[in-house]
Amino acid sequence: MDDFDLFDFFREPNLVNDFTSLKQTSMNEAMEMTNSKLQERYNMLLIATQAMWELFSEKLELSEKDLAKRIIEIDLRDGKLDGVYKKAPVQCPNCDAKISREFKRCLFCGYMPKEQGVFDKMPL
Ligand SMILES: [Zn+2]
Repeated sequence: MDDFDLFDFFREPNLVNDFTSLKQTSMNEAMEMTNSKLQERYNMLLIATQAMWELFSEKLELSEKDLAKRIIEIDLRDGKLDGVYKKAPVQCPNCDAKISREFKRCLFCGYMPKEQGVFDKMPL
């Protein structure tokens, strides 16, 4: 048998296809696992949200109209009614620059705003 040549290996169409399909299979399996985990988390969040809404609406006598109004208000916080939740930047009290929620500190003066609540600790 001749010495193994890496360049021949990649020039051989069947081997390249086998290698590509093997990589693709692993990628597909990884994506299926990720999708499955995301679906599981989505379902748990949906159930928790439904439970919270039912409790709040019963205890606080809120209507579907109140909920819809608040959903639109939250969606508009970044200036766009687009169904995407994005935290608006905050204004730096030291230098008036806008502080991106992504960086969690002012890039101009280094000021670090205090976290306001549990949702400020969550990644965007
Ligand atoms: Zn600043």
